[in-house]
Amino acid sequence: MQPMTLNHTRELDIFYNENRSKCTLCGKLFSDGDCAHLGYLNDDSHAVLCDACSAELKETVVRYHWKKDIYETPKLSNKLWRYMDLSKFISLISKNELYFSALTCFDDPFEGAKGIVTMKKKWDDFYLNFVRQAILTAPGMDLSKLTQEKLESESQRLLDQINSIGNNERQSIFISCWHLNDFESEAMWKLYSKDVTNAVAIQTTYMHLYEALYKDPTISIGKVNYIDFSKQFTSVNDAFWFKRKSFEHEHEVRAVVKKRSENITGISFPISVDKLIDNIYISPYAPAWFAEVVKSLLEKYNINKPLLQSDMCAQPFY
Ligand SMILES: [Zn+2]
Repeated sequence: MQPMTLNHTRELDIFYNENRSKCTLCGKLFSDGDCAHLGYLNDDSHAVLCDACSAELKETVVRYHWKKDIYETPKLSNKLWRYMDLSKFISLISKNELYFSALTCFDDPFEGAKGIVTMKKKWDDFYLNFVRQAILTAPGMDLSKLTQEKLESESQRLLDQINSIGNNERQSIFISCWHLNDFESEAMWKLYSKDVTNAVAIQTTYMHLYEALYKDPTISIGKVNYIDFSKQFTSVNDAFWFKRKSFEHEHEVRAVVKKRSENITGISFPISVDKLIDNIYISPYAPAWFAEVVKSLLEKYNINKPLLQSDMCAQPFY
């Protein structure tokens, strides 16, 4: 097996993100635990290969233990919405930056949680047993030297380590939230804008969001899983892809970035506003003059996108 060069490039990482589900040579779908070989073929093209095809690589950049994503990726054409106050909209279009809030700043205390506290003992018992078995069956373990006391203290130490992952991870997650929907949503206007009389919504698609973020391979975009915390746990890692069932109406898609930077409230990423925005909607609760203000802002920043009145302004007939 040839050594890994670890010579990552942005293009190679983008290729991996877009092609990681199967071997790019034979088409074999990867399963959890498979080894995926990422690198270059003889003609210098990128490849992600299975074990059987891996000898075809001229250069192996890295081998991964393949693992299925914990989240589902939206379809390329899925419509995504972001409802925001005018101040946030101005910030977006004037700076060409998308703001990612720190997970620790979210209102929902269950953000990044592994479960509810009444289930903590069940969780601990499960993982304590798991690590106990791992110690007992570790290759080369000399059971004659392992006292019960030593086994228990070592298991507890490993459990503490597992439990600390969640707390540490919460400090390094930054998220931009989007609403997945084919249509405008009345509830989302009120939920996501602090002053609904002063709000706009931008509508994009999954593909346009991904491209507008310059396909940044450090950003993951996926659907939130909604689960019943009284019956289920989330995950040791990446618990921020789960929320409680009571939030299911949000149909949230989130763009997530992991970055070690403690005690900050958010970070911004460069974004192409032109690629991002398909349509801009004016809040149905905005006064008449508001559309003119938004229109002049679009002119000022040279944004040539459809500015639409909310569909909820339409008048009924009986
Ligand atoms: Zn293959």
